[in-house]
Amino acid sequence: HDSETVTETVASSPKRLHIAVIDTGIGITPDYTDKLFQPFIQIDSALNRQHNGTGLGLALVKCIAELHGGQVRVTSEVGVGSCFTLDLPLITVTPSAHEVLSQQISNSEVSSTTGSASSLILLAEDNEATTKTVSRYLRAKGYCVIVANTGQDAITLAQSRHPDLILMDIQMPGMDGLEATHQIRRDPSLVKVPVLAMTALAMTGDRERCLAAGANDYLRKPVKLQELVATIQRLLSVNNAFS
Ligand code: MN
Repeated sequence: HDSETVTETVASSPKRLHIAVIDTGIGITPDYTDKLFQPFIQIDSALNRQHNGTGLGLALVKCIAELHGGQVRVTSEVGVGSCFTLDLPLITVTPSAHEVLSQQISNSEVSSTTGSASSLILLAEDNEATTKTVSRYLRAKGYCVIVANTGQDAITLAQSRHPDLILMDIQMPGMDGLEATHQIRRDPSLVKVPVLAMTALAMTGDRERCLAAGANDYLRKPVKLQELVATIQRLLSVNNAFS
């Protein structure tokens, strides 16, 4: 019902808002400008690439802009920079609609539980936003969380803190998560610690490569937080049963 109301307003609204963001970055070749708005596509897709991110930002922007009756475009020149333009219908938001939105946001806030879990989880993840979201959620669920931002830090922390479970991002700068998992498995004191791999590659064979490196299970990004906790609980209970 809400979307119908919005559509009517859009159709009757002649005013539009144009936003242009210009950078002087590396630029994008014409081959890539089409792919740019597809989910999980990144220009540098190497596992150990230096530019981080999940490849979802522009796909989300396009999706949200289109849901609002707008559009996103890009023009770019390699070595010169890019210009992204966002075009949206200009709608006056009534206070009541704003109140509804605030209510929806507060309803979707993470609710803390009285779970008895106090296991130590090592989160190896280079993306700051993901680290914040996942660690905040896991702490709300009663877990202790320590964070490593590189594969090398993950190994060092695993050796010094002996976590109950390692949550391993595969795409990290420097040493990637596959290599870090390999090395953790070669340490006799860490051979049994459950490793849950997370990848944003969305390629066939991901799961097999993660498991071959020594991971116990694998989740595809964007990770659903409830599914993440369910998988963590399962891996911890299996591991406790065998130790
Ligand atoms: Mn990453």
